[in-house]
Order: sequence, then structure tokens, then C-alpha cells
Amino acid sequence: MLFAYAVTALASVAGVWARAVPSPVEVMKRTHIAGSVITKCSKTGVLALAYDDGPYQYTSSLVDTLNNAGVKGTFFFTGTLPGPADTEGCDSGCIYNQRAAVKKAYDSGHQVASHTWTHPHMGSMSAGAIQSEMEKVEQAFVNIFGRKPAYVRPPYLETGGQFLNVMRQMNYTVINDDIDTGDWNNQSPASSEAMFTRAGAGGQGHIPLMHETYQSTVTTLTNWLINWAKTNNLKIVTIQLCVVCELVLTLVARLAECLDDAGGMYKQGTFTGNGASSC
Ligand SMILES: [Zn+2]
Repeated sequence: MLFAYAVTALASVAGVWARAVPSPVEVMKRTHIAGSVITKCSKTGVLALAYDDGPYQYTSSLVDTLNNAGVKGTFFFTGTLPGPADTEGCDSGCIYNQRAAVKKAYDSGHQVASHTWTHPHMGSMSAGAIQSEMEKVEQAFVNIFGRKPAYVRPPYLETGGQFLNVMRQMNYTVINDDIDTGDWNNQSPASSEAMFTRAGAGGQGHIPLMHETYQSTVTTLTNWLINWAKTNNLKIVTIQLCVVCELVLTLVARLAECLDDAGGMYKQGTFTGNGASSC
């Protein structure tokens, strides 16, 4: 408890000058993690709920579930993954068709991150093609909520070929997972839940692989995980907070950022939309 008070006091003092000199903090943070692959949180006592393959028909209700529980999650959105009504090439899977849900996730303070434009196997793509996949998502996010993401989870968790080089150049933090819930492979919520029970709540926080395209994941598994976290005194946080905080604990200036920083989820700068509303 004493430590907690000390941390709070230090943070409020540090907050003043942390904000006065943001550049070194940003530079140090990026040199540590940009382009490397992260599979777990860097601190204990946390759990990062991370959902791939949206936006989808359940995005809005998933945001409600997280909001009602008072927790923050991370959404790895694609630009054009086919939606449930997608037939014969119509673009129901286009991110702009879920514009309101994407904005709602962002406005609610959840982390909105990239899962590429078309969900390709990027390990075998050229650097230019990989960059294009990322830039198209960035432009769509700018059009919808005015920010560019700083985090990506690659489709199929593929990080080979040119991928990591391009991510380093584009200043992306690359996320994988430490628990594959297997929802994509017909694992039941019960068997996914057993994985968490087996892995336990101790140690560095988990970053599960989950998909918001499965109703059982967004309802049954998510509610179970919220309760599991509560039972085990884990705080459910965004990926950004779960991977950055431990790095900042040695420096007071960065401690403030750890406790009160949503900015690191997104790239620095002000960006202009291009008016696009279709994929
Ligand atoms: Zn995916």
C-alpha cells in the first residue's frame, strides 16, 4: 500500500515534466519494442483481452460488455475481411460498413489496432505490398476516428519474410499471443477456459488470441474471462498498457506515462481524412 502511495505521488510530480519532454520517452519506448514480437504482457497482475478479425456484427455489443464491466480491451480490425452477409464479392465486410461500431470502440477508450487491410499471409509478400496493407488501414482509421494505430497483430500470427523489417520502419509494435483460445478451430468456450485455468493467473499477463467473429467468444468466453480476472485480482487492460508499463517503472518520467497514457496506442501527429467511405 505504501508503495502504491509512493507511486501515485511520484507519478503526479513526474506528470509535469514527463509531458514537457515527451520525445525522449517516445524514442526510448519505440527503440525497445518497435518491430519486435510481443507474446505476453511485460507486467504481472493484468490480462489483455484482444479480439481479431472485426469489425463484425458483434463489435458493438462486445464494446457494451467491456464497458459495462469497466474494463478495456483491444480490437485488431481488418479493412475488408468478409462479413456474414458477404456473397459474390459484395463488400459487406468493408470496415466502413461498421463505421459506428469502430468509432464506438475508439470513443470508449478501447485500443483500436491493425490486423491489416485484406488479412493476407504477409510472410511471403513484398515490403511494398506489406506497407500498402498497413497504410490502407491507417487511412480508414483516420477517416473514421482521426488516428493511426501504433500496434498490429499479423494475420495467422505470421511474422516472417519482410514483415518485421517493414513494421520497424513504420514504427509498429507487433503483437502475437501466449494463449491461443482455439475459437477459430471450433474449440468450445469451456476448453478455452480450461487453458486459462491451466496457465494460471500468476506471472506476466496473458495476451490471448480470440476472434470477435464467434458469438461464443464475445459472450460466453468474454464474460468468463471478466469473472476470472476479478476472482484472481487481475486488471483487464489494453495491450498498450500491458506491454509498456514494465518498461517505464525504472524511470519516473515514464511511470506517469504508464499510469495515464492512451497516446501510445496511436501514432503521433494530426492526420486528415481522404473522404473514402467504401473499400
Ligand atoms: Zn485474423
